[in-house]
Amino acid sequence: DTKKEVFPVVHWFPGHMAKATRMIKDYVKKVDVVIELLDARIPRSSANPVITEVVGQKPHIIVLNKVDLADAKATKAWTEFFTAQGITVLAIDSKTGKGKKQLVKAVERLSKPIIDKWTAKGIRSRSVRTIILGIPNVGKSTLINSLAGAAATRTADKPGHTRGQQWVKIGKNLELLDTPGVLWPKLEDQRAAARLAMTGAISDDVYDLEAVMKQLLMQLTEQARDVLMARYKLKEEHLVSTDTLLDAIGRKRGCLVSGGVVDLDKARRIILNDYRSAKLGLLTLDAVDEEPYYTDGEDK
Ligand code: GDP
Repeated sequence: DTKKEVFPVVHWFPGHMAKATRMIKDYVKKVDVVIELLDARIPRSSANPVITEVVGQKPHIIVLNKVDLADAKATKAWTEFFTAQGITVLAIDSKTGKGKKQLVKAVERLSKPIIDKWTAKGIRSRSVRTIILGIPNVGKSTLINSLAGAAATRTADKPGHTRGQQWVKIGKNLELLDTPGVLWPKLEDQRAAARLAMTGAISDDVYDLEAVMKQLLMQLTEQARDVLMARYKLKEEHLVSTDTLLDAIGRKRGCLVSGGVVDLDKARRIILNDYRSAKLGLLTLDAVDEEPYYTDGEDK
């Protein structure tokens, strides 16, 4: 079984990452509370590798976004996991705005001690300031737009990229930077990288579809067996390996080329799209209780 790299092409250069880190640290200096946006389906894999360093000592809220696509039980487990570490955590759906009021309240709650300190020092309090940080496609712009109302945001998927920043009022005494802090994704961990690809966190033309789908098919077989069988009308015998599974789904979906051979990439894309649009159920890919880092048998 040949192990394939999920990302044979994409590299994030150390200089680039160092620059992004520096820029985001500068923004973080200007705020009182940091909002870290994660994908509820992959709360571990969608975290930036240096987020702890970037956030520093600032009060910090973790927001599990796209909760509408995640497994409710897993979201509860992740919420408890972060809560146990003393981190404020919320699950939201930025697309519909569900949970955003609670988010504003949570930021206000976390900033209360800061305002009290200002008051005690006799400083006439200004608004509390916050920023949204996260990797590309986690839903930062969607959330900012939802919180800021009509105010549009423009971002580019480059680490550290922000432009024309402005503070927008999102609560009584609360302002949000209208451009998010874009951090790079965790690509050096192959398991995390594959899951980032599965959820659409990174562009479809930069990863190895075969390697990613092998992993997704294994997870689907384990976690969504019944839904998988029902959706593609499969038999038990199709589930013995990812190869037989892929071949069977390809046949059911008419992905045949001449000679009765299955167009495997076509079949892979069908399954991937079905997963992303939750047609295979609400599936959280990162489990709280699995090894935090995938080492693939190597040390480190
Ligand atoms: P950004 O790169 O972090 O700013 O991400 P975007 O805000 O551009 O969102 C990336 C994609 O995720 C878009 O297609 C959004 O519509 C979608 N999205 C964002 N938030 C949610 C959510 O809570 N639920 C769902 N289902 N999709 C979301």
